[in-house]
Amino acid sequence: MWWYAQTPRHHWVAERIERCSDALWVVRDESGVRLTSNHCNNRQCPECANRRARQASKVVAARVARYKWPTFLTLTTTPRRDLPLREQIRTIVTAFNRLRRHAVWQQSVSGGIWVLEITRHPHRTHYHVHIHALMDSKFVDWEWLRERWTTINGQPSGVHIRRAQERDSKYLGKYMGKGFAGISLEPWEEWPFAEELISVRTRGTFGTEPGLCHGADPDEEQTEYMPPEVIAPLSEVIARARDGNVAATEILAQLIARYPWMFRPDPDPPPDPPPAKLIPPADLVV
Ligand SMILES: [Zn+2]
Repeated sequence: MWWYAQTPRHHWVAERIERCSDALWVVRDESGVRLTSNHCNNRQCPECANRRARQASKVVAARVARYKWPTFLTLTTTPRRDLPLREQIRTIVTAFNRLRRHAVWQQSVSGGIWVLEITRHPHRTHYHVHIHALMDSKFVDWEWLRERWTTINGQPSGVHIRRAQERDSKYLGKYMGKGFAGISLEPWEEWPFAEELISVRTRGTFGTEPGLCHGADPDEEQTEYMPPEVIAPLSEVIARARDGNVAATEILAQLIARYPWMFRPDPDPPPDPPPAKLIPPADLVV
């Protein structure tokens, strides 16, 4: 990825991703002294993508648990090879917005959460963009849905609908966290792809479902967030405390009180194994 960075911003992002989660830092906020990892929170970072996907899955699962009739919907269209990915995304999201404005939809579906899935043709010729939604709906007429979705798109378009299963929340969360999941990008393709997706909406909520608000939205967790006071890497605090630095010793004592399981002294070494029983060979003559 480094090799293909072209602009100062690319270099800055690559450097942050390289250093992502490589150290535990001691910080101080209103709750006192605590430990944190130096996440880079970049969309291209595999480490952060996994963490966001786990968080998003939990948020989705908690919300879907309140649905009366959890339903899983997948909407596809024929890929438009002539359109850049950004335009394809804009087209399908606009079509989905139009679908939801129809009276039949509004009578059948109370609300839900949607996310885009982007995949790539095995021959790398073009991208496929789908919409997955988990929604609360007792019944939607499949015939109507397919006919309506095809009309809006003006071309053959697919609709798949079924009762939601438990694993679907995880599936949705995965695509919420990992913008690039399922796309096999060559290292030199990553930057153009990331630029293509800058400021593109890839998920959302509709109907009665509240927005993926602050704290619940994995991508927005840092936007209105007051960063804590950074003290030093944990290794530094421990080293200083060993040297007898009073402030470092005090901070370390607070950390030990907060995370006792992290600072447990080494357990006693295991006892020596009992001596092996001597079994005399069968042909031993005494
Ligand atoms: Zn990261």
